[in-house]
Amino acid sequence: MEVKGFQELMRQIYFHRDSKRGAYGTFLWLLEEVAELGKAIPQNDRKNLEDEFADVLAWLCSLANVLNIDLEKAALAKYAGKCPKCGFKVCRCPEA
Ligand SMILES: [Zn+2]
Repeated sequence: MEVKGFQELMRQIYFHRDSKRGAYGTFLWLLEEVAELGKAIPQNDRKNLEDEFADVLAWLCSLANVLNIDLEKAALAKYAGKCPKCGFKVCRCPEA
């Protein structure tokens, strides 16, 4: 399964709820899941990390569904085999 398929799966399971909650409410859930991922990093629990990554991806897909964004198409359009800033296949941008 690729990103497009996973986004469609999230649509089938959750769109009826996500669409009622709306974009901003769904965005707040995504932020909560990103925060949980951040808390999981220092705990060094592989299973918990995997769960939190899954939640972040699921909520990102939910938000994209509410806003009618094709996540795979958008990502591949921007990151089309090279860094969108410097244009190199292996990024040569200066460190921030
Ligand atoms: Zn770059």
